[in-house]
Amino acid sequence: MKAVVYHGPGVIKLDETPKPSLLEATDAIIRVTKTTICGTDLAILKGGVPSVSSGRIIGHEGVGVVEAVGEGVRHFKVGDKVIISCITSCGSCENCRRGIPSNCVDGGWILGNTIDGCQAEFVRVPFADNGLYHIPDIIGEEVALMLSDIVPTGSEVGVMNSDVQFGDVVAIVGAGPVGLAALLAVQFFSPAKVIVVDLDEYRLALAAKLGATNIINNRDGQAVAKIMELTNGHGVDAAIEAVGHPLTCKLVQEIIAVGGTIANIGVYSQSAELHKESLWVKNVTIRMGVVNTTTIPLLLNTILGGKLDPGQLITHRMPFGEIIKAYELFANAGREKAVKIVLDLNSLQSCSEDDLVERIVKRLLEQTAAH
Ligand SMILES: [Zn+2]
Ligand SMILES: [Zn+2]
Repeated sequence: MKAVVYHGPGVIKLDETPKPSLLEATDAIIRVTKTTICGTDLAILKGGVPSVSSGRIIGHEGVGVVEAVGEGVRHFKVGDKVIISCITSCGSCENCRRGIPSNCVDGGWILGNTIDGCQAEFVRVPFADNGLYHIPDIIGEEVALMLSDIVPTGSEVGVMNSDVQFGDVVAIVGAGPVGLAALLAVQFFSPAKVIVVDLDEYRLALAAKLGATNIINNRDGQAVAKIMELTNGHGVDAAIEAVGHPLTCKLVQEIIAVGGTIANIGVYSQSAELHKESLWVKNVTIRMGVVNTTTIPLLLNTILGGKLDPGQLITHRMPFGEIIKAYELFANAGREKAVKIVLDLNSLQSCSEDDLVERIVKRLLEQTAAH
């Protein structure tokens, strides 16, 4: 099968690799139909995630069709259309039972990290009953793909962790895929204002289209002053940091109001300063963490109810065979006006002539049966 393989810092290739097989009774093999690239994958490519070793198939966001299940899998069968959660969880370890599956002792974020991931034609998903979600028939694959990681991350680690209440003033710092996902989800809570800060005009314009009440380009470094002016000097009740840089970490600390909550989504590859000397007196709460993806069923409901359209985050569609080109494009997201790039594997299934013929025959038989 074709798969994106990490070969050490700076090198990924679309290689021919062996197809995965079931290793445990609780495993499923998924034929991936659509996948996408995450900011974390770029961090891996740069060599910034040391847990990823050379030879690893990367990618942790995908949708597909169940190809095989182990005998211990109870809720999924061959042929089911599924979302692959970026989080693997056993459901029975201490952390899973405490409701923190992101820190499952046998799982967490392991797909495309410490085990082979889903930028591939097939992927093995451990603890399939916990890591897969059925896609309702009327929800498209592309929309469902956004629930593998970014929309749950924006909702759980950003919005829910920020404890936003109706009528609040919210700031989202960083209008990348996850910041924009948080922007979609925060509107469930009817905040009075949602201020989005970024350095890129295209992303800010998109944020305005997706519901931001105010957009601020911080190229001039004046975001703090502008936000204080917009809030009559009070600052914001909820600050969602979706960049992961010492400067944005500083920014959210400067704009948070008395009693406010800072929710940190950004992934930090370096340390950042926490100014407790000015925050403690303001009764500020700070939260951070890895997504649990436990909101996927709720997010599916909101999509079915017409309250959420994560398809709005998709800017590019490409065949899976062009994924290396897609990496290049995503790495220049600002210039390329890219948010989420959907890679389609339907056009690239490895098939010998034999099974191609078999498939054509099957199709013909189905057509005959239908008449
Ligand atoms: Zn991701
Ligand atoms: Zn567990």
